[in-house]
Amino acid sequence: MNFYKVIFYLFIFIFLYFHPSKSQILSDEECGCNTLNVNFLKNKPTDDQLHLLLDSVNFGENKTLYRIPVKFWIYRKSDGKDGFSEEKIKELLYWLNYYHSINNTGLSYYLKPDIRYIDNNRLVKLKYILQAPFQTAFHKSKACINVHIADKLKLKRRNHNSRNLSGTYNAITKGVIIVKGSSISTLTHEIGHYLGLKHPHRFWKSKLLGEPVSRTKEIRGTHIKMCEKKGDGLCDTPAEPNLSRFTDDNCKYTGWNVSDSYGVVYVPNTDNIMSYTKNRECRTQFTKEQIALMLYTASKNKYSKFWEVTDKNTIRFNFDTYEPDNSRNSSTELNFNIKQTHTFHEIFNSPRKETFKDSVDWLFIKCDTTKQSETKIIIAKSDAEFPAMRIRVYNSDGLIYQKEITEPEEIKINTPCKDVLYIQVINIMFENILGGYSIKLAE
Ligand SMILES: [Zn+2]
Repeated sequence: MNFYKVIFYLFIFIFLYFHPSKSQILSDEECGCNTLNVNFLKNKPTDDQLHLLLDSVNFGENKTLYRIPVKFWIYRKSDGKDGFSEEKIKELLYWLNYYHSINNTGLSYYLKPDIRYIDNNRLVKLKYILQAPFQTAFHKSKACINVHIADKLKLKRRNHNSRNLSGTYNAITKGVIIVKGSSISTLTHEIGHYLGLKHPHRFWKSKLLGEPVSRTKEIRGTHIKMCEKKGDGLCDTPAEPNLSRFTDDNCKYTGWNVSDSYGVVYVPNTDNIMSYTKNRECRTQFTKEQIALMLYTASKNKYSKFWEVTDKNTIRFNFDTYEPDNSRNSSTELNFNIKQTHTFHEIFNSPRKETFKDSVDWLFIKCDTTKQSETKIIIAKSDAEFPAMRIRVYNSDGLIYQKEITEPEEIKINTPCKDVLYIQVINIMFENILGGYSIKLAE
């Protein structure tokens, strides 16, 4: 980053920190720098355009339209301890893909290697105003979503007690931060911001900018609906107050007498991913217009043509649902008689750099101590081309089995399994890294 950029960021943050109206906005809007998004509603497609976009992609067909790489930056103590494990990163990506899949958004996410670690005692508890923007500005990788994971994210405002936030999205640096132990929906929420979504309760306390409950009320002297221009700018997300105060642990709305600035009581959803429901696990849904706006934002990204699933790259970046699994720490459990289909593929890096290769999968088997004489693994063909592979099996003592295969095969391992067996599958067709196989554990 050059000197002028640093000065620019410094200027912006000093402005934000001392800007009198910012303190009011921060109280509701920790997830984004909304003061700087004055153009958001101006540039956003209209309701009709969003619905046309959904029609054009045949919304509802459950197909993948974009595969977006996600790069992780993990904050640890100076001695490299107490980080966030690869297993947990796998879980995060699982939930992110889960919410997008159940909502048919067409968006899917895969790991961009390598996971990077920032070892610094002073940054483990990241300060929202003074450290978070700089860290996300300095530590970023191109052509992907950058996600930072810290122990805590602390917001301290003048004359206020310090508060712990669970996540944030910085609209200037385009960096996402989440904290360890945050809800399973937090990453999906923050990436929702990255893809252009706002909180449905945005500016709810403001007479001027708050969204009315009515879906038909127009801005005076125009034929423009208020719901398109206020709050989150979407008409299919009902207007709502900040739900962290008006929902209970069971996802029930409790603000029965809370009304908009026209005296109409709110009737919100309590399951929207972009809301602030008290129990964050209530959040499972995106509305159709939210999905359309995310797809629209993805299509406008500088790198969208590399993320988009086209005829040419259908197979090229086709990651499987067990990923990331390229290390022992992120291995996937293989269960009896449940077939898993795995792929070898490329991982988009940046337009001028060579792609990464996904050519290793790790799996593990929990041993059943009562029948441990022999372990049978069946490796078979999938829809993809069957590559030449090296299969390695490890127990707690080390490597116990190794074989190269070029066609489907049943592998028998006679060494007793003590606790866990790890299986490493390596693609050894280096020129042609694409392909795949299915694998299952037989009784
Ligand atoms: Zn948010």
